[in-house]
Amino acid sequence: MNNILLYIGIDDTDSSSGMCTTYITCVIISKLKDCGFNITGHPRLIRLNPFARFKTRGNGATSFKLELKEVEDVEEVKKIVLECVQKLSVLEDERTNPGVVFYEGSITSQLEEFALKAIRNIVSIEDAENLLNKVGADFYKYKNGRGIIGALAAISCPLDDKTYELLAYRIAENYGKPRQINHESVREMDKHTYPETFDNLDEGYIAIEPHTPCPVLYGIRSENYGILMKAKDIVQVAEKVERYCVYLTNQHTDMHLQKINNIRDMEKFQCYIVEGVVKDKPHIIDGGHLIFTLKDESGEIECAAYEPTKKFRDHVRELEAGDVLQVYGGVGEGINKKGTLNIEKFELLELAIPIKLLNPICACGKRMKSAGTGKGYKCPKCSAKIRNGEKERIELVRNIKKGFYETPSSARRHLSKPIIREK
Ligand code: ATP
Repeated sequence: MNNILLYIGIDDTDSSSGMCTTYITCVIISKLKDCGFNITGHPRLIRLNPFARFKTRGNGATSFKLELKEVEDVEEVKKIVLECVQKLSVLEDERTNPGVVFYEGSITSQLEEFALKAIRNIVSIEDAENLLNKVGADFYKYKNGRGIIGALAAISCPLDDKTYELLAYRIAENYGKPRQINHESVREMDKHTYPETFDNLDEGYIAIEPHTPCPVLYGIRSENYGILMKAKDIVQVAEKVERYCVYLTNQHTDMHLQKINNIRDMEKFQCYIVEGVVKDKPHIIDGGHLIFTLKDESGEIECAAYEPTKKFRDHVRELEAGDVLQVYGGVGEGINKKGTLNIEKFELLELAIPIKLLNPICACGKRMKSAGTGKGYKCPKCSAKIRNGEKERIELVRNIKKGFYETPSSARRHLSKPIIREK
């Protein structure tokens, strides 16, 4: 008899005050192992639309698969999974609405499309439920069960491009306490494994360390599994690690971005790659956010490099009206009705050469001043006057070159592809 391939997806188990769906998944996998059920391949951590309204933090959902021999095994596995989800989920938080999906079929193009929609758009619980019923999946909703959206997407997501993340988890008594990670060892790890691992550091900031009271001690992101084992051996911590887990992920693949030809067609809460011309020189607003307008023949959109993007703003500040850009980012609530494009990175395709017009120089060497509208120029030093002097055209020197510019690790979205991965 053929083995039964069972996919399991889980989401929405945690709250901002604690827990983490990846941790619960990791506990479930070791429980299953203890009962003689080994999962096939790596578990998956799939990041969904960063603008989904009910996300706790990074809008991640998990899935894994098992090959089972008997129908009774399927029932036993489901029982173990559901018991763990019920026991470990933060059900008392009104925003936590777990969903668990069990699916035995193949991953059809319709399922893949659903996953891409959950990554790029907003879907409803009903959309997920209809599809689950259609494909004959077995699913469990706790409270309003919104988690079935992420759970199904985590099973269905195609992973042509992928990265890995190694997660180390703390023991429960340390949750909420400062993390005891040897920062020097993280720098050492970065030295030996970058760029195959990335987003480890951001200048002085240790980017592998979360700042929430969740069970994660640290997470290292990488191009390949092997290098993660090396990285794990270099990082030293002065607290007990309860367990480790390596996830296959869609993090840092730009899977959330859709290429779009008309600015006019961009919608709120979706993420795009869009080309346009800078309409006005970026200006700073309250809070340290840098704002400019990007336009094309169809319309225009406000773009922002928000304060947390720190030094990235130094590049944005150098942009001038007329520059041609390809911008990568998502349309958030923003400042005006149409929403604001939150820039994740941009490619400067063509540089405008801004011209500054200066008054003519007098025969005595001094720059002249306007003598009044239509009256020519007057020298402030020797009082000489000219009626029809021509302005001098000065090409401004640009402090930015063509190429890619990106937000730093500390401000990067989970799904954003770092430039180092483009090579
Ligand atoms: P963490 O990253 O800490 O695991 P989270 O940020 O992933 O938490 P969840 O607690 O999983 O947040 O809540 C996100 C909720 O939004 C889930 O119920 C998920 O099913 C749902 N969701 C995810 N993507 C979409 C989407 N595109 N449209 C509508 N709902 C979505």
